[in-house]
Order: sequence, then structure tokens, then C-alpha cells
Amino acid sequence: MFRVCTTTRARKLINAAAMFQDKVFDKISTFQNETRIFAADLYYHSNCMRRYTKRYEKHVEVVLSNLELEDGIATDDDVTSAFNMIR
Ligand SMILES: [Zn+2]
Repeated sequence: MFRVCTTTRARKLINAAAMFQDKVFDKISTFQNETRIFAADLYYHSNCMRRYTKRYEKHVEVVLSNLELEDGIATDDDVTSAFNMIR
């Protein structure tokens, strides 16, 4: 077992759990920042953590490539009118 002790790892765990809204999220949602995670002395299995964060990174990659596809399809006019709607 390893203790969550780096900011990067804690941040990634918070972000992954926020995206998945799973039982990890249920457990850590009270720790809203890295400092609180350190204070809670959170331990993890190396393999489980790796699998969890990889799944998160894969998910983000898919979302990003979908967004790029959407951008590619949208014409300049679409983009302009979308911005007009926001304003
Ligand atoms: Zn495990």
C-alpha cells in the first residue's frame, strides 16, 4: 500500500473521481483539495490506482478527440452564431 503523498497524484485522483462519480468519489468527495487528502492519510494499491487513472486519462482523450471532431465539422458561421448566442 502506498500513501497518496504527491500533489499531482492527489489532484488526478480528485479529477478522476469527479468525472466517474463512482464509489471512489463517494469516499473522497469530502476531501475537496490535495491538502485534505494528505491529511486523511489515504492509501492505495499501486495497480488499482494505475488502472483508475489510466481509465480517466483514456476517457479525457476520447472527449478531447470528440471535441476536435466537432470543431472540424462546425463551419465558421456555426461558431460565430454560437458565440452570438452566448453573448
Ligand atoms: Zn486494490
